[in-house]
Amino acid sequence: MEAACLGRFSFAILDGPPAGYIVFVQEMASRPPIPDASRTATQREIARIAEMRAVHAAFTYLHNQEMEFRRWQRELTEIPAPPFGEAARSQWLSHRFTALGLENVQIDELGNVLGTLHSKRTVPMVGISAHLDTVFPQGTALQTREEANRLYGPGISDNAAGVTALLAVATALKRAQLQPAANIAFIGNVGEEGEGNLRGMRHLFSASPWRDLIQSLLVIDGAGTDTFVNQALGSRRFEVTFRGPGGHSWSDFGVPNPIVLLSRALARFSEVRIPDSPRTTFNIGVISGGTSVNSIPESATARVDLRSASMEELQKLEDRLRECVAEAWREAPLAHRSGELKVTLAIESIGDRPAAELPANARILQIVRAADKHLRIESFPRLASTDANVPLALGIEATTIGAGGDGGGAHTLREWFDCSNRDLGLKRILLVLLALTGVQE
Ligand SMILES: [Zn+2]
Repeated sequence: MEAACLGRFSFAILDGPPAGYIVFVQEMASRPPIPDASRTATQREIARIAEMRAVHAAFTYLHNQEMEFRRWQRELTEIPAPPFGEAARSQWLSHRFTALGLENVQIDELGNVLGTLHSKRTVPMVGISAHLDTVFPQGTALQTREEANRLYGPGISDNAAGVTALLAVATALKRAQLQPAANIAFIGNVGEEGEGNLRGMRHLFSASPWRDLIQSLLVIDGAGTDTFVNQALGSRRFEVTFRGPGGHSWSDFGVPNPIVLLSRALARFSEVRIPDSPRTTFNIGVISGGTSVNSIPESATARVDLRSASMEELQKLEDRLRECVAEAWREAPLAHRSGELKVTLAIESIGDRPAAELPANARILQIVRAADKHLRIESFPRLASTDANVPLALGIEATTIGAGGDGGGAHTLREWFDCSNRDLGLKRILLVLLALTGVQE
């Protein structure tokens, strides 16, 4: 996910290329209120945790170590981490985890880095994660610079800020010798952005031995302090390809043209009716095919992105895309739908993220709201596509919040992070984490 800033609100520019949609849903009014009694109990619990001496010590550490956090953040930003190329960052983070004394530090087969903070109990375990990957391809110049309170560099907010917050909170817990009642799994995961397709998080919650241990997950992604994700935006992405025999534009005239067939399919699909609520969108982001102006092309391909807060709407949209493609193919002359010179079509899935929603009374939401109230943060629920999609779709409580500070220009070379008041965001993360695990004096 990418975090940009407009006025005082943090916006999520969803994963994927800079052309991605901006989605910000302020839906306080449409949500049933949280029962007062439980809000009060959670509020009291947050206040109790915040007053613990060791938590005060952790807060002081988070406030005083800003210069150290900046060094980590810049160092990390300068290590390339394109999709499927996160190995150097995984190494960097695993060394940090080991140095600060986390236990069970390991890099799994995909490159996810894990380390635990042990308590007396083993389960349930609370996970806190930040993705390591960036959208920037190998070879991108990744130099950072610092001007006053601002850091500049590609990926400095999304998600070097998140990984820095992960380390800062782990270090603060260690230094303050806090003993959470449940184990905490610190996770630097791969594969969040674009074609990464949440592969790191998917692995953790499917094939990994950690799958059944993590009972709730707090995802740190991008800058900011004033939002939390309560709805996972689903998306499906497809590559549609028409192929034909091709030929000379003059002598083979009449052979079906894949560019024409694809264009017809896309034009028809673009007229699909979509609901305003649940918010649903589509985009045709890439189109390619053909070799020269006087050749009938042998193939034409388009990449299509479908998004919705509802799995049902997503399915309808996918069905419509498939219909339009099939209809266009059926319009090719019968002679070209069989035999040697036939026209073929292929629809390949290149991304699939589940949609899901936290129940309004979810414990993790009550905790975030109570922590925000305690810290006098005015925060807003948000619909976004993040690593939290994976646990949410499995019915595991999860939310995504920012790493503090402020940021902008995400997924561009002009990306920046403003460090002012970063510690407020870090305190927020620490409080939420400790309320999730429980902690005693
Ligand atoms: Zn991100």
